Amino acid sequence: MKIMLKNRQTNTLARLFKPALLIAGLLGAGVLLAQPPQDFSKVEIKTNKLAEGFYYLEGSGGQIGVLTGDDGVFMVDDQYAPLSDKITAAVKAISNKPVRYIVNTHYHGDHVGGNLNFAKGGAVIVAHENLRKRLAGGLTNNDPGKALTAEQRMSLPVITYENAMDFHFNGHDIHVFHVQPSHTDGDSMVQFKDLNVIMTGDVFRTVSYPRADAMANGSVLGIMAVYQQMIDMSDDKTLFVPGHGDVSKRSDVQAQLKMLVTIRDRIQAGIKAGKTLEQVQADKPSTEFDARWSAGSVTNTVLVEGMYNELKSKK
Ligand SMILES: [Zn+2]
Repeated sequence: MKIMLKNRQTNTLARLFKPALLIAGLLGAGVLLAQPPQDFSKVEIKTNKLAEGFYYLEGSGGQIGVLTGDDGVFMVDDQYAPLSDKITAAVKAISNKPVRYIVNTHYHGDHVGGNLNFAKGGAVIVAHENLRKRLAGGLTNNDPGKALTAEQRMSLPVITYENAMDFHFNGHDIHVFHVQPSHTDGDSMVQFKDLNVIMTGDVFRTVSYPRADAMANGSVLGIMAVYQQMIDMSDDKTLFVPGHGDVSKRSDVQAQLKMLVTIRDRIQAGIKAGKTLEQVQADKPSTEFDARWSAGSVTNTVLVEGMYNELKSKK
């Protein structure tokens, strides 16, 4: 598949993202492409029940949270635009109410791609203010200098917040809060308080080493700090629904953090000893974890380089 890259920002994206993710991200953000990035007709939406009235949906892209009840449907993220009909069908199977609110955890296309379709259906899109800035600033129309059309604007969040906000919906208290720059600088987590469930977006994933989006001021050290925050705010019954991967418990977050601390300390020791990035890479500071965690776009090399650069710039 061939894609025309029109401007500098897109070229930067191309360098930083795996091609598939780039294409998916642009498509998700509303850019019209001749061909879809994958065959979405093969994707099936799987509905998983976590608690009474609460589900998470798997399809292709970030996991979707669905809270049902008398007031309507509250969703977290909406995957890719071509999947909106299938997602709508899956939601209809568990609720006969309309989708009223969708919180976007972050700006990546596999989490916000369905925004326009659901907004057209009447859903109100809600997100951190940095997410809206990012989508409005060129990612939606692939041209930062050009004003968005009325339709393109519909894919953007209508309501944004700075630090935290609360929904009181379907008899539940839902706490949406911003975390420090980690996966991106516009990440939200969504805590369903009485259900003791937290949707983490991509700050927490179980499919590879953590991913910090350099395009959006992401930070691996920030991710580690947020893991500590997740540990502090949870108990051993809390369920974390990651952006990608397995529903996890606090002990899983603790284990990932412990691993990252081990790797970080080794890299820090290398920096103290005056080692270059190449020398630190040669020491293989993540070696015993690589079989499980070095995967996809976040290989051991990517993780170590990110940590090294962040630690080095902190000195
Ligand atoms: Zn992401």
